[in-house]
Amino acid sequence: MTGIPNDLSAFWMPFTDNRGYKAEPRMFARAKGMHYWTPDGRQVLDATGGLWCVNAGHCREPITQAIAEAAGELDFAPTFQLAHPSVFRLATKLAEITPEGLDRIFFTNSGSESVDTALKIALAYQRSIGQGTRTRLIGRQRGYHGVNFGGVSVGGIVGNRRQFLSLPGVDHLTHTYNAEHQSFTRGQPEWGAHLADELEALVNLHGAETIAAVIVEPMSGSTGVLPPPRGYLEKLRAITRKHGILLIFDEVITGFGRVGAAFAAQAFGVTPDMITMAKGLTNGAVPMGAVACAEFIHDGIVNNAAPGIELAHGYTYSGHPLAAAAGLATLGVYADEDLFERGAALAEPWADAIHALRDLDVVQDIRTIGFVAGVELKAKPDAIGARGKAVFHRCFDDGLLVRATADTIALSPPLIASEADIGEIADKLRKAIVTAT
Ligand code: PLP
Repeated sequence: MTGIPNDLSAFWMPFTDNRGYKAEPRMFARAKGMHYWTPDGRQVLDATGGLWCVNAGHCREPITQAIAEAAGELDFAPTFQLAHPSVFRLATKLAEITPEGLDRIFFTNSGSESVDTALKIALAYQRSIGQGTRTRLIGRQRGYHGVNFGGVSVGGIVGNRRQFLSLPGVDHLTHTYNAEHQSFTRGQPEWGAHLADELEALVNLHGAETIAAVIVEPMSGSTGVLPPPRGYLEKLRAITRKHGILLIFDEVITGFGRVGAAFAAQAFGVTPDMITMAKGLTNGAVPMGAVACAEFIHDGIVNNAAPGIELAHGYTYSGHPLAAAAGLATLGVYADEDLFERGAALAEPWADAIHALRDLDVVQDIRTIGFVAGVELKAKPDAIGARGKAVFHRCFDDGLLVRATADTIALSPPLIASEADIGEIADKLRKAIVTAT
């Protein structure tokens, strides 16, 4: 079961250079704690939490046991007009750690579904309170909100948009990164709060009565770890509130302890009207996402609806029993081991270790916040992304899993990492940068 299969042709791999990968496949056969193992038994230190999701470390027993028990007890139960106990328990537990007031939980199966769900809820809410002209959605450049039509439309990654059509009536704020003012920042950069004023300009252009919602990642992850400038999210919050526009934080990456609190909303002290999440919700063990909504949004839709189904939206697997069991066990591990606090405590030693790479000539910028980092390499003028890819491969071959987005190496290890693990990540990354670029 764990050897490399002879035929790799049938699996059309997502977000993958299929031709390159299949010529030179790399895969994992098992995992435990901070490590993966390849089919031939090589150990690889996981500096990315799988894909920003394994926040409590791999194959944690309370989680694997809960999944196994759930699978033997209740394989599936619909949540349309029926349900099962653990999905209610999970919603209650989740509402205990979301920011105050965001305590109505809609379950999905992924981050992309959470985003499209939140956008649909925003439209439904505006309509239900008599604001049906508010249909415009605003995202931000360099934002990643998954791959469904809504998420791609509000997202701001050109490569993810150009193969597809985009929803009409969508605008984008400028991204918040500026190398000149922000390079080598630890935590939130001082420069850039004024960029939120662009929202006022869009309100002036279109009229507030046409805008339903603004969605941003509080810290952009997939486009290279871009922490929000100090004061920026506060401004967005003030402007959205002033104009009756809903504010959505996409916390698919930042949720569950990544930036120093359960959610970035708490870490940055700004409460949106909805939070989208996935990944760390089940520690990556079973697909699950969720949207935490302000009570007024839930009540506006539910209480204003005619008798019957209030929101015509949901997935066959919304609140699946295995995912609910995994989610409950995961939240238990986070709480029992104080992992969010641990992530916050690791921020300083982490920043010290990663910023020490600054002396390398090819390193153009380093950004750290909480237990996440982006190490941006100078791109080769004729081959953008080539250096990132070379470092990713070199690291893998040397037993370290990192993530390369273009020429930025993104790091987001499980929150159980020791100081020795942090040291190993920094050492191996240094070696890879020196030898592969
Ligand atoms: N939103 C953000 C901020 C993400 O980082 C991601 C995935 O990385 C998504 C949405 C999409 O999540 P998924 O891949 O689970 O659909």
